[in-house]
Amino acid sequence: MGMESRKRYEYKRLLDELSSKKGHGTELISVYVTPGLDLGIVVNQLREEQGTAVNIKSKSTRKNVVSALDRIINFLQKYMEKKKKAPENGMAIFSGNVAEELGASDIQLYWIEPPEPVSVRMYRCDQEFVTEPLRDAIAPKETVGLLAIDSKDAMIATLRGKNVNVARHLTSGVWGKHGRGGQSQRRFERLREIAVHDFMKRIAEVANREFSNIKDMRAIIVGGPGPFKDDFLKKELLYAPLREKVRAVIDIGYADEQGIKDLINSSAEVLSDLDVMKEKGLVQKFMTELVSDNGLAVYGEAEVRKHLEAGAVDTLLISEAMRATRVTVGCSTCDYKRQDTVTNLTFYERQISGEECPKCRDGVLRVLESKDIVKELCELADLSGANVEFISLDTEEGQQLKAAFKMLAAILRFKVS
Ligand code: ZN
Repeated sequence: MGMESRKRYEYKRLLDELSSKKGHGTELISVYVTPGLDLGIVVNQLREEQGTAVNIKSKSTRKNVVSALDRIINFLQKYMEKKKKAPENGMAIFSGNVAEELGASDIQLYWIEPPEPVSVRMYRCDQEFVTEPLRDAIAPKETVGLLAIDSKDAMIATLRGKNVNVARHLTSGVWGKHGRGGQSQRRFERLREIAVHDFMKRIAEVANREFSNIKDMRAIIVGGPGPFKDDFLKKELLYAPLREKVRAVIDIGYADEQGIKDLINSSAEVLSDLDVMKEKGLVQKFMTELVSDNGLAVYGEAEVRKHLEAGAVDTLLISEAMRATRVTVGCSTCDYKRQDTVTNLTFYERQISGEECPKCRDGVLRVLESKDIVKELCELADLSGANVEFISLDTEEGQQLKAAFKMLAAILRFKVS
């Protein structure tokens, strides 16, 4: 779970960085390449685009577009020295002038092998990079069980990412509520009740069988018209572990394919609610530890770092808002070294450049290494197998982690004095 939280975080952060870039003109290029595509075709298409680019009126935009295309073509040609075809999931390439100052030039290239296959080939030249097609991959990918049921029909399906798998469609043959001629109403109702109960048992049998084997079943959503679905759940025919996973009961019009579609539409919200609840739970657990006598909670970089280094952290909570760089500075002459955490690397570099070494008083200080602090802390956490969880700002607890606990908190295995 921790690893997944981290991969999603890294991916989301990269996409956020890309979306934050703005071109001064229509000059930021996004290229999406589908799996296995011959990259020579892509290179030829980009050359054609370069040919058309000479018609761009603004001189600076024209120059930036041509340079960005050059960068992408060079990248692809280099890539093709090893492989002629796009990788398993395809790739997305972004290039353009990302300098913030007007008139300045900083042509960058970013490329991603996405965690899910690129589904559509695309070339786009715009004021922004096009990242939406990659954002779907951030959505939770656990399996959701879907039950669309009423007294006549039952659809039992699973949803994983965007893939729906309908396991079974059952029909009951249960008659409507009104008796037919010749039978007493009471006898009719009694028979109908038995038939309805039998149908519920059949539904539960299939659901128990289909859902029990799925290891990453995150939630089950039950829907249907009328009270049948509620009666079904009340009878507790589903196995207890599955009953615990029923996270939403939804009124929908039909218990057929349309019903399953309605449930799929609700599932993103149900899953994101679960994520929110999980995040809330983690921060609350930390806060409970903090006020208890066990002392198994610490926060702030210095304390958290100390306990990570001692292998004492069970779960590390990092606010998604955390932005800083861990810097190693060293002396130009002796072996003096120290580490600092800084929020503005450029400013820091300017500040220490030329600073006298406090040890030998002979050499000057300079930056030897710099690393994103989140990455650095994650690597530190890996050394002792600590779980890493990222906490968004979407909840009150997430806001508290940011404001009151300096974006970093840890639940400990043991306390280090
Ligand atoms: Zn020195």
